[in-house]
Amino acid sequence: MVYKRILLKLSGEALMGNEGYGIDPGTVEDVALQIKDVRDLGVEVAVVVGGGNIYRGMKAESQGVDRVTGDYMGMIATALNALTLREKLEQLAIPARVQSALAIEKVVEPYIQKKALKHLQSGRVVIFACGTGNPYFTTDTAAALRAVEMGADVLLKATKVDGVFDKDPEIHRDAVFFPSISYMDVINKDLRVMDITAITLCKENNLPVVVFNLRGKNNMKKVVQGKQVGTIVRRQA
Ligand code: UDP
Repeated sequence: MVYKRILLKLSGEALMGNEGYGIDPGTVEDVALQIKDVRDLGVEVAVVVGGGNIYRGMKAESQGVDRVTGDYMGMIATALNALTLREKLEQLAIPARVQSALAIEKVVEPYIQKKALKHLQSGRVVIFACGTGNPYFTTDTAAALRAVEMGADVLLKATKVDGVFDKDPEIHRDAVFFPSISYMDVINKDLRVMDITAITLCKENNLPVVVFNLRGKNNMKKVVQGKQVGTIVRRQA
């Protein structure tokens, strides 16, 4: 095993499956089973969930809601995804906790770094909800931040495509795939792997990012075993 502690970033869309909105139970089960496989190898798993399947703050203004309120709505949406994933993991007998960056302590624990580390060391999956707790940020930035705080060996960014391409492979048939790429190239070529704040945080802390297709069979397991899956983003391509 190459990675002993991972932080998995799941976008809201990754939990939506083929639906246009909301949470697809079959997709959540598939994700939970992939997490189980990785955990069964002895890997410590932390997860940051997005909320774009339910709400995005960027859209708020066009709907007459101010941006900051919209961002809080987006963060609250991530908590719905986090609770759904926790329930599924527990149904599979995998101990899991949700920690939130916003105070909703009747439902989940607040984010406490040392407590989260203890959970991981005890074999519990920790799901981080509500992003960074601040408007104008993204859950990708929350993923980079929590990965650094947890001392994760890698940030696994689950996507619908096979990794990083020079252009969108869902639109361009001639898109070129990069098996590995440097942080600087991602920024300079504006490849939108993650937003600039997130990728900068990874770069400054030398945290590798593996961008991979969540729909590929056993892909998460292959990544932690060091098999060539997806694209690795690191200091030197
Ligand atoms: N958000 C925020 N601060 C954060 C993380 C998220 O304000 O630290 C809000 C923002 O409005 C965002 C929404 O929550 O649009 C959902 O998060 P994101 O778009 O990152 O989710 P994903 O694209 O991963 O599903």
